[in-house]
Amino acid sequence: MELSLYLHYPFCLQKCPYCAFNSVADAPCTPDEYGNALLAEMELRRRELADDVSAVTLYLGGGTPSLMDPSLAGRLVDASARLFRLAPDAEITLECNPGTVTRERLDAFRAAGVNRLSLGVQSFDDGLLHSLGRVHGAREAQDAFAAARGAGFDNVGIDLIHSLPGQTLAQWRNDLLRACALSPEHLSVYGLTIEEGTPFFHLEREGKLPLPDEDESAAMYETAADVLAARGYEQYEIANFARSGYRSAHNSGYWNRRPFLGFGAGAHSFLRSPGYGVRFSSPESPREYLGSVARGELPVAETRTLSRRDAMAEFLFLGLRTCAGISLDQFRREFSASFDEVYGDSCAGLFSAGLLESCDGFLRLTASGRILSNQVFVQFL
Ligand code: SF4
Repeated sequence: MELSLYLHYPFCLQKCPYCAFNSVADAPCTPDEYGNALLAEMELRRRELADDVSAVTLYLGGGTPSLMDPSLAGRLVDASARLFRLAPDAEITLECNPGTVTRERLDAFRAAGVNRLSLGVQSFDDGLLHSLGRVHGAREAQDAFAAARGAGFDNVGIDLIHSLPGQTLAQWRNDLLRACALSPEHLSVYGLTIEEGTPFFHLEREGKLPLPDEDESAAMYETAADVLAARGYEQYEIANFARSGYRSAHNSGYWNRRPFLGFGAGAHSFLRSPGYGVRFSSPESPREYLGSVARGELPVAETRTLSRRDAMAEFLFLGLRTCAGISLDQFRREFSASFDEVYGDSCAGLFSAGLLESCDGFLRLTASGRILSNQVFVQFL
């Protein structure tokens, strides 16, 4: 079984006010204790898996995994190879907060086996970065990128966020141009979403968050697609753009429903069997997670067995995120029914509204469909 590995490092220097990821600023343990729990969980999971497995990607995400000691990253890479046969040429990504890396640390991460960096720059505007509660400014982001190149990383991605409070289209365009000027191999551009329970959520409810409206937000998305296409970045997913040969293999696995195992507090996993597949996740609380592993138990908080209908919906809303779309033949093979039989009636309006199109046996979102993707996906639920 080919699969991906995800290791979650849930600690950050401070909690950003828009963030709903499973991350905390106050770690209940030392980095070493958490690292040892990750390694122990990997051992426990391997014993449970009957299949012969072969990992094709490894992703160190968070939180802020660039805070971890590079020697821990090395131990995690080694354990991935030993327990899950991580391929020698596998893509190994580290998410980096620009405020946490130096050339020396990046040299050490590279020596540990990391071969791809995803830099969470978010913006090159110091005022916007400050309002996002980021621990870095534009200067640190540029320095981190230069340090990454100096350390020999030839596969570096930059993440940017648009539709920020008070952000203008001109500021967003400037962010895109400054990112392109660094010439990263990959760019991810996300629109800010206001997540329940975050300080931004409360500010929005009080009318204190001057967010761009839907039209402005759509204009920012279209500007990203235009600016990046003009500079040689191919859009291959709703929010992701890459130079030729530099698509994220790890994230592509999510959209193609490749099985993955997640380790660490709040990490999610997906296996294609039994039946139509199963998704499970570990406790979000690092303390609870550590307790389970210390007792020698697999830290599973929630398990969801997918019905045929669930699996069909996932196949569509994950696959349609990609610009290639979904293969109608593959849908028929996996579910013994055609797309038209299952969704023909409910999706007719999406075709006539110009949000979905079918071409050469593939179904995909149109450019307008990518902007309104949530309206499309809701039809499959
Ligand atoms: S650094 Fe990232 S994970 Fe940590 S609080 Fe900020 S947005 Fe969330």
